[in-house]
Amino acid sequence: MKTQVKPVSPEAIAEAAQLIADGELVGMPTETVYGLGANALDETAVKKIFEAKGRPGDNPLIVHVSSLAEIPPLVREVPESAKKLMEAFWPGPMTLILPKSDRIPGAVSAGLDTVGIRLPASEAARALIAASGCPIAAPSANRSGKPSPTTAQHVFEDMDGRIPMILDGGASEVGVESSVIDATGDVPVILRPGGITPEMVERVLGDVKVDEHVMSPLAEGDIVRSPGMKYKHYAPRAKTVIFDGQAKR
Ligand code: AMP
Ligand code: MG
Repeated sequence: MKTQVKPVSPEAIAEAAQLIADGELVGMPTETVYGLGANALDETAVKKIFEAKGRPGDNPLIVHVSSLAEIPPLVREVPESAKKLMEAFWPGPMTLILPKSDRIPGAVSAGLDTVGIRLPASEAARALIAASGCPIAAPSANRSGKPSPTTAQHVFEDMDGRIPMILDGGASEVGVESSVIDATGDVPVILRPGGITPEMVERVLGDVKVDEHVMSPLAEGDIVRSPGMKYKHYAPRAKTVIFDGQAKR
């Protein structure tokens, strides 16, 4: 398969949207990192993401929407605390874990009863989702274990020959993944740190927890609330030099 890289334009967005609607994969820009997108409601399309990435099937995907109106069919309920977080931090680099509806295929949620939802700030991403006419499931567009891509060129290096198209929207502004926040209970729990910090959440809701596994390693038999915590991330293949010494006083 030949992988085409096309700069964002109305025509390129229309072409990418058609590919998504046809059950194909598209490398797409977002403000956090580049995503590898597929129709989130099409299980066969979603399975292609796991294949192209070499991603373990028990690591769930984040579902991206272009407006709040697209969320109700995807979830069973939106707790009050989640509504406040949406108002404060969306569109932006925050994923909310909510109870999933039957519309979300098991492959997206990796068999969990919940789904991660995000409304991205990137206008190109929202335009693509809107034009596709479906929510887009998208993990980072790297091969599993490699660093997340922040340019179309990075995506090309990992996905050349595996996907039909990459939409080039320039460098991702944020450069790190979204904060993942479990919003299913009364007190939100941060499962993956990111641009939205515990302090920012606390200011909105007055209370927040950070999952113990964010800072401490997993022990054998530990059950994680966010399956991605089990896997190695951000492993650049490069020589690392550590400078040790006293700070200048
Ligand atoms: P990535 O798309 O590669 O940034 O990874 C998304 C991460 O979000 C996963 O590795 C999980 O840790 C987390 N995640 C997605 N959906 C859920 C969910 N339903 N419950 C808990 N964590 C989730
Ligand atoms: Mg990733």
